[in-house]
Amino acid sequence: MKVSIFNTMSRSIEQFEPLSADTVRMYCCGPTVYNFAHIGNLRTYVFEDILRKTLEYAGYRVEHVMNVTDVGHLTDDADDGIDKMVKSSQEMGKDVYEIARFYTDAFFKDIDELNIARPTVTCHATEHIGDMIELIKRLEKNGHTYFAGGNVYFSIDTFPQYGNLAKLNLEDLRSGARINVDPNKRNPKDFVLWFTNSKFERQAMLWDSPWGIGYPGWHIECSAMSMKYLGESFDIHCGGIDHIPVHHTNEIAQSEAATGKQWVSYWVHGEFLINDTGKMSKSKGSFLTLQLLKEKGFDPVDYRYFCLGGHYRSQLQFSWDSMQSARNARLNLFQRIVSLRKETKDQNIKNLGAAEKYVQLFENHMAQDMNAPRALAELWSMLKDPELAATEKLAGALRMDSILSLGLKNISIDTDEDEIPQEILDLVEERRIAKVQKNYARADQLRAIVEKAGYQLKDTPENSIVVRICNQMHK
Ligand code: AMP
Ligand code: ZN
Repeated sequence: MKVSIFNTMSRSIEQFEPLSADTVRMYCCGPTVYNFAHIGNLRTYVFEDILRKTLEYAGYRVEHVMNVTDVGHLTDDADDGIDKMVKSSQEMGKDVYEIARFYTDAFFKDIDELNIARPTVTCHATEHIGDMIELIKRLEKNGHTYFAGGNVYFSIDTFPQYGNLAKLNLEDLRSGARINVDPNKRNPKDFVLWFTNSKFERQAMLWDSPWGIGYPGWHIECSAMSMKYLGESFDIHCGGIDHIPVHHTNEIAQSEAATGKQWVSYWVHGEFLINDTGKMSKSKGSFLTLQLLKEKGFDPVDYRYFCLGGHYRSQLQFSWDSMQSARNARLNLFQRIVSLRKETKDQNIKNLGAAEKYVQLFENHMAQDMNAPRALAELWSMLKDPELAATEKLAGALRMDSILSLGLKNISIDTDEDEIPQEILDLVEERRIAKVQKNYARADQLRAIVEKAGYQLKDTPENSIVVRICNQMHK
């Protein structure tokens, strides 16, 4: 299978060719851990997981590196604001390292529950300060930096390709308004590599450096850690589209100015998840988390299914109604797999047979810039095809799920109603009565309890079907 992918650098779909024949080296910008990930962030990690699994499906070994931004510094382009880690630590009464550990653990719990494969290397910024200092020293030696007002800056005028990724017009930038621009900057787009002059009231994480005690700028960690683990040139760099104009633009400048080589071959960016109030933002405080979805009775895999319903380069609009539709479709899918399992008990399900043509179409959609919605539609067409044997359908579904990762292979069924414990059946009955009485809050609560106990509920017009399902791959 030959994979094509949209490269933000060329703004076109390109045939993917890795630098080495059978291994893909891929770097994904990871979470900032001063708060929970919101479901917008998680959409990006789902898309990156789909990319990785598509490449693995195509036969590549993928070295997947992701950073964890546990240094409590600024992440906005204005280079001012408040130290988010210190703010969280004050709010929660914990030290900054505890905060980082708490939210890192919460992040990986979300990742596991969404059936996202863990990166082959996860690297923490706080453990790589020495690598960042070495890289800044290299940039300094090559004449790309200046020291002003206590901080080390990258001078974008020393790097003529600056802004290529975002197609920035540098003349416009130069003549642009200098409102709120740090007066130490020679060019408004210059950015800090190392701060010794903190703008925060209290800076909790500080390290010694050749320029004085301080902390790194935000962008340098990704350049330093990606090159440490993947080499000075590698295949793919991913992230959300918000990273194109500043973070990735600055990462390219730092990396290529240091090495003199092309750093990344393919830039792959995922579009945003939006809600009715617009973009979700971690720093604005109020946002939707996976935990909240679970409290509302959704399974994390419902959210994965919801994400698969949109192309990764299109904005996806979140609403509770569309979440419910995703849930219904996913439960329906699970029911079909349950039925197929019943039908094919003890039979060999390895052979694709007539499902081959659907698998082929599925592969074509995934190989052509990861068209997950169309690929998912092939799964459904296959399941509904009356010409196919149950074993073929099951074999096809499991093959497709090696990318989709909805946990189909882990569905263990309890076909015998009698084996559902009485207390679960009582809860289902109590929920039915709550629904008749239009007490939907109680009904949702009961659904959540039943699901927590490891059962799935599927509502039909007549009643609710309950099945025992283990649907998460990492349990
Ligand atoms: P952060 O933890 O804020 O650094 O973001 C982690 C990842 O989520 C980055 O790749 C961002 O580009 C991405 N991201 C942030 N907001 C959204 C959103 N609303 N939808 C999709 N991805 C997002
Ligand atoms: Zn990054």
